[in-house]
Amino acid sequence: MKGCGAGWSPEQVIDACAARGFGGVVFWRREIGGRAQQIGDRVRASDMQVVGLCRTPYLTGRDAGSDDEVKASIDMAAALGAPVLTIVTGGTEPGTTGVLESQKRLAERLSILAPYAGQRGVKLALEPLNPMFGGNRTCIFTVADALAVCDMVGLDHLGVAVDVYHVWWDRLLSESLRRAEGRILGFHLCDWLEDTTDMLLDRGMMGHGVADLKTLRGLVEGAGYEGFCEVEIFSEKWWSTEPEEVLDLIVERFRKVC
Ligand code: ZN
Repeated sequence: MKGCGAGWSPEQVIDACAARGFGGVVFWRREIGGRAQQIGDRVRASDMQVVGLCRTPYLTGRDAGSDDEVKASIDMAAALGAPVLTIVTGGTEPGTTGVLESQKRLAERLSILAPYAGQRGVKLALEPLNPMFGGNRTCIFTVADALAVCDMVGLDHLGVAVDVYHVWWDRLLSESLRRAEGRILGFHLCDWLEDTTDMLLDRGMMGHGVADLKTLRGLVEGAGYEGFCEVEIFSEKWWSTEPEEVLDLIVERFRKVC
């Protein structure tokens, strides 16, 4: 299936990444199925780390998952040996308008779910999405929004994932990232294409767009982030390209422009 290892099995992905000297891999839940422990062990046997798992069911909005469904995704991350589980929050709560009520609801749910994640050795990373995803996919749009929710919850095991696709435009990002020190749990790389044709599935290869990638990485690392750079390119174009070729290009582009 496209977008799911571009048609490759997890084992093919692991082997191809290990062969290129990658330090780690992030998986999506649909790639893991019932094989979390087995896939995690395969990554570690290849001298790489499982860096994270994407993502929980939504926590707000009309498509929100139940606590049991969210806990099952936390259990999957734990079984995989993933230290971080990413959260895409979900959209605006039914019967409300704007985003503040939804952010409050999000904080309420996290006050139950973050301690559960902590018991399982998993940290939860709130990923703010570009404002165009408001309504049905997210109720947090900036790192500042994500930090505000973290502050409402006030618990460990909760932090922020910074994805350049979503935050590259934010003039106040450097200030927010300074406040995020110690709470940045992931950094996602791709590029914003000048003439993007699809808001979900036309992300650019690093260096093909207009995001200031070196500066963004410098800001994140300047805020104390020492984790991996995760390349995350949802793209019909790159999913239709030979995966070996894409991985080679990722290595070259990462070294040159990130
Ligand atoms: Zn991301």
